Amino acid sequence: NQSKSAFLANMSHEIRTPINAIMGMNEMVLRECEDENIVEYSQNIKSASGTLLSIINDILDFSKIESGKMEVVESPYQLFAVLNDVVNMIQIKADKKGLQFDVRIDETIPNELLGDEVRIRQVLVNVLNNAVKYTKRGSVEISVLKESVSQHDILLKIAIKDTGMGIKEEDIARLFKGFERLNLKETRDIEGTGLGLAITHSLVGQMNGRMEVESEYGKGSIFTIYLPQKI
Ligand code: ADP
Repeated sequence: NQSKSAFLANMSHEIRTPINAIMGMNEMVLRECEDENIVEYSQNIKSASGTLLSIINDILDFSKIESGKMEVVESPYQLFAVLNDVVNMIQIKADKKGLQFDVRIDETIPNELLGDEVRIRQVLVNVLNNAVKYTKRGSVEISVLKESVSQHDILLKIAIKDTGMGIKEEDIARLFKGFERLNLKETRDIEGTGLGLAITHSLVGQMNGRMEVESEYGKGSIFTIYLPQKI
């Protein structure tokens, strides 16, 4: 298992460099080319290479976690700036699918927190992306509330709710395992590797938080993340 993790980590690292070169050169073609056909090919390269890069990044994160080398780095950050970025990004995806996207945030939560901003973003984006990806119609909602607060600490309760395909009771146990995908019949045409939630679950654990899932097959799901942060 150690050799496998080392191999995956090295390979994904080596693959990232040329992908970045391909994406950069392709960006130049997109900017400079006036031929419609070539621009269309180039847009396809952009979309496929973006997907490839995110798969490689997931594999790299997953192997880092497996080999115990994923580190959480705390520094001061602004919670509302993070939420703003994430919400804007997901809004575009929800609009494209015609889904309603509701945002409910307790504005009395202190804005200046101490934590790992990069990993918090990653967790929120993963769970919200899934909510949009696995929902055909209806809505996605994020609510950010405070479960408890003291002078120097806060426990955030972040709930992400969708009206999507839901998860069968017997599948919930597999949800956070690596490379596991569920409802294969329905999800076959949806891009994914089954790594996102495994990574998310480990990151939340490393930040001393926990995750809960409630779901009704065919109706929708709620992913709740309890995340302690320093104020
Ligand atoms: P990926 O989306 O890349 O397949 P994830 O680890 O993020 O991998 O999710 C694992 C599986 O859990 C998905 O393939 C999907 O079957 C199921 N899943 C995740 N989020 C949801 C959701 N919001 N609603 C229904 N099923 C979900």
